This record gives sequence, C-alpha cells and structure tokens, in this order.
Amino acid sequence: VQEATAAVGVVGMAVMGRNLARNLARHGHVVAIFNRSTARTDEVVVAHGHEGTFVAAPDLTSFVASLARPRRIIVMVQAGAGTDAVIDQLVPLLEEGDIVVDGGNAHYVDTRRREEALRAHGLHFVGAGISGGEVGALEGPSIMPGGSLEAYAALGPILESIAAVVDGEPCCAHMGPDGAGHFVKMVHNGIEYADMQFIAEAYDLLRGAGIEPEAMAGIFRTWNEGDLDSYLIEVTAEVLSQRDARTGGALVDSIVDAAGQKGTGSWTVQAALELGVPVNAIAESVFARASSSHPELRAAARAALDGPVAAAGTTRTPADLETFVEDVRQTLWSAKVVAYAQGLHLIRVASQTYGWDVDIETVARIWRAGCIIRARLLERIRGEYAANDLITLLEAPSIREGLAGTQDSWRRVVGAAAQAGVPVPGFAASLAYYDTLRAERLPAALIQGQRDYFGAHTYRRTDDDGSFHTDWSGDR
Ligand code: NAP
Repeated sequence: VQEATAAVGVVGMAVMGRNLARNLARHGHVVAIFNRSTARTDEVVVAHGHEGTFVAAPDLTSFVASLARPRRIIVMVQAGAGTDAVIDQLVPLLEEGDIVVDGGNAHYVDTRRREEALRAHGLHFVGAGISGGEVGALEGPSIMPGGSLEAYAALGPILESIAAVVDGEPCCAHMGPDGAGHFVKMVHNGIEYADMQFIAEAYDLLRGAGIEPEAMAGIFRTWNEGDLDSYLIEVTAEVLSQRDARTGGALVDSIVDAAGQKGTGSWTVQAALELGVPVNAIAESVFARASSSHPELRAAARAALDGPVAAAGTTRTPADLETFVEDVRQTLWSAKVVAYAQGLHLIRVASQTYGWDVDIETVARIWRAGCIIRARLLERIRGEYAANDLITLLEAPSIREGLAGTQDSWRRVVGAAAQAGVPVPGFAASLAYYDTLRAERLPAALIQGQRDYFGAHTYRRTDDDGSFHTDWSGDR
C-alpha cells in the first residue's frame, strides 16, 4: 500500500504540468505526478528528480493513494475533452472534501458545470487560471483560482508559494466562487489580445513613418523605461531586433502577416456580448487577427480598392518625426488604459451577474507579475481601486489626469492614420469608447425613435417617466 505522503498532485506531464510540478517540488512540496502515457512521468523523474521530491505514479489509483488528505490534485491536461476524461476517472477514486483543480484554459461555463457536478459528489472543484506560459509555470506564474473559500483555505498556501511575487505579495488570490477564476483568466487574455494589437498598430505607424525595425526596437526599449514598462513591450523590442539568418535583414520582415488565435480572445468578446458589456477595443483586436488571416479576402480587396491620394509622398522633418513618435507613445498608453478599463468592467458586470464578488483591486494586484500582461501600470491601477470606489478605471484620478494629457495625441494619431490609410482598429475603437462614455448626449435617442417607428418598441422621454409610443403613420 502506497503511503499518503504527497502534499499535492499534478496530472498531465506535458510542458505546463511538468513545469508546475517542478515549481512545486522546488518549493519543498512533495509532489505526486501522473501522466496518461507513463513515459512522460518517468522522464520528469529522470531529468528533474534532483530538484525535489516527486512521487511518480504509474496509474491514477496509486496516484490518488499517494496523496495526503484532503487531496489536492491539479489537472493540467488538454483543455476540453482531456480535462473531462481525467475528471471522470478521478471522481470515483476520491473522498469527500478532496480538491480537484483545473489549471488549464477552460471556458468558465464549463468550470461552472464541473464545479456543480463535483459538489454533488462532496468534492471541491477549483477552476484556476494560470498565466505566464511555460516559463511562468516553472518560475512563478500569476494564478487566478475560483471555487469555494473552503477549498482555497486548503489549497491557497500551496499555490501562493509557487506564484510570482511583488513586494512580498504573491500573484495568487481567491477570485470568487465557481467559474470566477477562469473568467478572470479569460479576460486577462482578452486584454492581452488588445495590448498586442495596440503595440502592432504602433509598429505599423512607425513603419509607415520610415523607421526601420532595429531603430524601432530602440524606441520600444526607451518606452519600456517609462509608463509603458511591460513584458509585452519588452518582447516587442526583442522581436524587432531579431535578425534573420537567411536574409540578413530583420526577421519580422520575413514573417507572414497573418496572426493566429486559440480562442480565449473570442471567448472574452462572446461573454461581453452575452452580458451586454462594451469591449469594442478588445473585440477589434480579435477581429484584427481574423482580418489578417483571410488572404483571399485581402487579395480581392487589395486588387479593388484605392487608398488616399494625399498620403503618397508625405515627408516629415526630424522634429516632426520626433513629435509623431511621442504622439504614438501617448496613444499606446491611452488605448492600453481603455483595454484595462473594458476588461475590468466586464469582470465587474460578470461578478454582479453571477454573484462572485470579485475584488478588482485584487485582480490588478495579481496581474502585476508572472502573467503575460504584467505591466507597471497595474501597480497604479491596483492603488486606484484601493483608494477609490470606481465604476470604471477611466474615472480614477491619476488615469483621468493621464488621459487629459494624452487625448490630443491620441486624436492626432487616429486622424493621421485615417488620412494616410493606415488601419488602426484598436486605437480608433478605444478612442470611440472614450468619447462615447464622456458624451453628454448619444445618438441613441434617434435609434429609439427608429425602433419605435418600425417595431413599436416604445421609447422613454427626457421629461417624463414611463414608456411612450408615437403613431408615426398619423400624417401619412
Ligand atoms: P496540452 O498539449 O494542452 O495537453 C497535453 C497533455 O494532456 C498531455 O499530458 C496528455 O497526455 C494529456 N491528455 C490529453 N488528453 C487526455 C486524456 N483524454 N486523458 C488523459 N490525459 C490527456 O498540454 P500543455 O501545453 O501543457 O497545456 C496544458 C493546459 O494548460 C491546457 O489546458 C492549456 O490550455 C493550458 N495552458 C497552456 C499554456 C502554454 O503556454 N502551453 C499556458 C497557459 C495555459 P499524453 O501525454 O498521454 O498524451
């Protein structure tokens, strides 16, 4: 009989599960490991056995038997069918109070379903978003667990011990019940899509201004020393400065301009559509990847459509160029703020809808390190939510002030891009969001009139309560 000595178990020894298990072992936890094909489990012990104490299990039964109770099992297998298959095999082997964690990129609706199903068996199910890729999993990810508070009490300390750390605080905290953790992780990825699209638009504008990739890498490195300091800007500088061994030129110039996606960006937009929350900048970022990946559509349009005549031959003096680069930097900051504002508002509404009580300050706090969208700005956002009761990030004092200073640049850049025929869907959408929210009066009044005209949907009046309908055909 196997002795139950392992503090935590990991199922799935592909790159994410293996690195998470190594991270746990390196932090002194005895880790039980299991993978469907045993060769992978054995490989971990051979290659990394010296990093800590692993209990390699040949089958799920001995894996479960090796775990101290309540059992804490992190499932890190292929999202979807793989996760369901592992859960189905685990459930009959577990006992009341045991905790199953899904660390994969599950859809929060699936997490809600699984949590309910396991609760009926007296088990805890924790959907935990884990960000940071394979390096993060090994060296300290940002971890966003959902599930019950009781489960977090037993599990939290272990997860917190392997998470990234900022100022002594781990980038791991309980997000809320059932699917809250996976929802927050999904929105993290939505913001990531937007952040990447904005940086790409900045690159496109600088490219249009005649700046070469190597010089552009220098600009991004400088930006990374200021307000824009973030992992994605750092990555951007690295990518832009990479030379291509084959051509001798910048590698980026040899990469096909079609971006792929795995789905979490669209999930964010779908959730926003279902909840009726405006996330237009995030949505444009998902659509921008989709646009890039339709070669036949682009070829047909390229052959048919003209660009602006005036754009040809536009030249800038060095001083103009410097101003333009600074305008782009300020635009990037403004759009980035809007992406956070939209994502955090989506979390706020979902939290109200599902009764999760997610604390936005905590979300910003655990995104400060370990995850892909880690950025200096998140420290400020955390502070603003700590000090103020905010409906939107945009009303936070330092953010409002920042935008007051950047909005002219933002408008100039979006205007100049439109005139030059350079697509900036993310920059334009974020500016439209800013102007929509601050507008005294929106054209929605006319839309209500139209709806009442053809569908008798009624409208509300500015000077009276209740619903009104006009007999529009009266004079016809
Ligand atoms: P993966 O390629 O998504 O999945 C491979 C793993 O799943 C293998 O261990 C495989 O076992 C196992 N598996 C698949 N179907 C199974 C089944 N029916 N029964 C039992 N095991 C099954 O692995 P990954 O890249 O390490 O990612 C794991 C999870 O983390 C995914 O949900 C992914 O979305 C998420 N994630 C990944 C990253 C990343 O950077 N890769 C970042 C964040 C989150 P076999 O070896 O036996 O085939």
